[in-house]
Amino acid sequence: MALLITNECINCDVCEPECPNGAISEGETIYEIDPGLCTECVGHHDEPQCIRVCPVECIVKDPDHAETEEMLFQKYLRLTEAGRP
Ligand code: SF4
Ligand code: SF4
Repeated sequence: MALLITNECINCDVCEPECPNGAISEGETIYEIDPGLCTECVGHHDEPQCIRVCPVECIVKDPDHAETEEMLFQKYLRLTEAGRP
């Protein structure tokens, strides 16, 4: 599944540059994850980098975007294909 930033986010901006998919951006009140871009870091890292660095542990699995490991890997492939010239 994609991940979700809860409203405990303190807008510290630590996670945004760590995301290999550019899925994190500053929203109106807190940071947000684009579920179309988040692969839970599958294809890039062994663990979600945003969760690893978030100082307040406010990033959780998004129950509205349940995906299997295989689906996440397919998303990774689509995203990396799309990024090629
Ligand atoms: S889990 Fe990985 S891909 Fe998803 S938002 Fe966090 S850093 Fe980005
Ligand atoms: S690292 Fe955590 S607290 Fe900081 S902006 Fe990202 S989600 Fe918010």
